[in-house]
Amino acid sequence: MSTGQRVLVVGAGGLGSPVLRLLARSGVEHITVIDDDIVDESNLHRQTLYTAGDVGRSKIECAEQVLRKLSPELSVRPVEGRFLPGTAMELLTGHTLVVEGADNLATKFLVADAAHLCGVPAVQAGSVRWAGWALCALPSSACLRCLFEDIPRDRIETCAEAGVVGPVVGVLGGLQAALVFRLLRGEHPGGELWHYDALKGALRKTFIRRRSDCPLCAGEIQDLRMERYTAACAA
Ligand SMILES: [Zn+2]
Repeated sequence: MSTGQRVLVVGAGGLGSPVLRLLARSGVEHITVIDDDIVDESNLHRQTLYTAGDVGRSKIECAEQVLRKLSPELSVRPVEGRFLPGTAMELLTGHTLVVEGADNLATKFLVADAAHLCGVPAVQAGSVRWAGWALCALPSSACLRCLFEDIPRDRIETCAEAGVVGPVVGVLGGLQAALVFRLLRGEHPGGELWHYDALKGALRKTFIRRRSDCPLCAGEIQDLRMERYTAACAA
């Protein structure tokens, strides 16, 4: 793995926890992590960075402590807040890639758009109940909008409402970390879509191609206008 790699992690929850733990000693030089939440007892089963003693504390503060203990030589920048259209590009600048573990679709689309506009790979994932997916999008490969088109106009369930199973996000976070390792080693897993169904015990890899009418890949999306991300901005 080459040196000087800088990774931005959006979300320090169920997906971000395993991703951050696995990246801490991977040889990356720097991790920026952004989250605006506090540690909640009802999330401890899946947010494995935190302990019962952290309940009520800022996630980002706890995450920084864990990362510094795991790897004292790692450069860490904790950012308390949300990943928003106004600051997305500035946050992404200077990073080798972005890993997204947000709990709502609006942020997932924002990360996809910002990464594409910055020319930075994005490793994204999502899960509901017993199943989930992980996607590696390169500037030259299919993106999240090739997969899901757009944020649903009708209101969708948040993670808290739908329920998220701890081991499912653990597996998906591990898959995200593996994709990151491969990217940092110089591989090009762009367009790889991993799907995990815990009830069926099935892990499947497919390859998605660019959709001819994808507005992001076609260059129709050239900025991050807030209204594009407010339709389903739950949580
Ligand atoms: Zn696309």
